[in-house]
Amino acid sequence: MRKANALAKNGVVQIEDGLYQVKSLTNPFKSYMVTSDSCDCEGFRNFYKFHHGKGLKANCSHLEAVRIFKAIHEKTGKGTTTRK
Ligand SMILES: [Zn+2]
Repeated sequence: MRKANALAKNGVVQIEDGLYQVKSLTNPFKSYMVTSDSCDCEGFRNFYKFHHGKGLKANCSHLEAVRIFKAIHEKTGKGTTTRK
């Protein structure tokens, strides 16, 4: 959780509405494409491989970071309005 917090502050870049690029925690040269409910990192994909169909929501620090990132920007109201 603390890692996700740090990521949210300096590792998340918004590409477009609902699409974010999040830096890898383990490899600074790597980053992942993250949407509001999916991530292309190995941990996330493995989660669905192992738990598919059990109604569980996969999670990873990148998704967590995007959630925190969005919360920060919603609070401060800095431009990034997410319309539905
Ligand atoms: Zn991830």
